[in-house]
Amino acid sequence: MKELREGVVSETRKKMSETIGELYKQIIEGVLCSNSELDDATIEDLLRDIPEHAKRLCFDGLMILRGEIGKNKNILNEHEGEEKEFIINEYIQHSELEKKGVNITDINDEIKNCTYTELAGGIPLIGLTHSIWTALRRAGTGSPDGWTTSISNNGVSFIFYPLLAQMKESDLAPWLKEHYIKQGLLSKKHELHHFIWGMLERGGFARESNESSSELREAFLNIRHELIAHIFSESGIENAIFAHNPNDSHVIDQINSIIGIFSSIGNTILIDKMADQGTCLELFFYPIMKSRNFNELRDNLIQTAKTYNIRI
Ligand SMILES: [Zn+2]
Repeated sequence: MKELREGVVSETRKKMSETIGELYKQIIEGVLCSNSELDDATIEDLLRDIPEHAKRLCFDGLMILRGEIGKNKNILNEHEGEEKEFIINEYIQHSELEKKGVNITDINDEIKNCTYTELAGGIPLIGLTHSIWTALRRAGTGSPDGWTTSISNNGVSFIFYPLLAQMKESDLAPWLKEHYIKQGLLSKKHELHHFIWGMLERGGFARESNESSSELREAFLNIRHELIAHIFSESGIENAIFAHNPNDSHVIDQINSIIGIFSSIGNTILIDKMADQGTCLELFFYPIMKSRNFNELRDNLIQTAKTYNIRI
């Protein structure tokens, strides 16, 4: 009887992992990346294959996401026609760039040469000119590959990236140049995930961390963000995580342990050609999503790997 019940639990868990991972992928690739709105018909479509007991959770998440993107859209509507000026100036203020030595007048003169587009109505993409991008890099803001997502609790949230055509050879390490040319789309997906997950955190849908210290909480929330980004954009994981520079050796050990397990899972899937049979990293989205601390994350990764016979 116990075995039977465990079998049912394990099947239920598998179904959750499979369908919820697929749902998140569809939101990034099928809906937002291709510029569709999260309207009622799209949401109904997305929920069609979700098992009954998980529908409520997914529906709530989608409604929160739609609501948060809608709030961003409302802010943008108030600044119609001057969105890029508004967004860049908000960013200058909230990142205190003036205090960090950035010349604000130079930036304001350059904004007209930046580009502004929107994904799916409410997700702004700002293409930064060479001089603005380098000024921000020098001030220490933005990720190493230049694509950065900024989530604001009260103001506007957006994604920015350097306009490649304006980059000088010397601005980019060779691997970064390669990365841009081959993987522009992957960077977009990576940041789109950060935007979506950031909205789900802001809207109170993503589980809060219950780690014991603020440094561990921050590191945990960061690694959860980056692991999911890695799943859906195949971007390098170590660089992204260590870009945040933790100092505490205990925090670094925790991060290394998770990276070790996760890399090993990815390698096994690759080496054993498990991906050909449908076993992929997306299955790990749900177990990662529900984790609230490093121990839970480690246990959930190991448990899921066992369920799918993935060697660690
Ligand atoms: Zn990232």
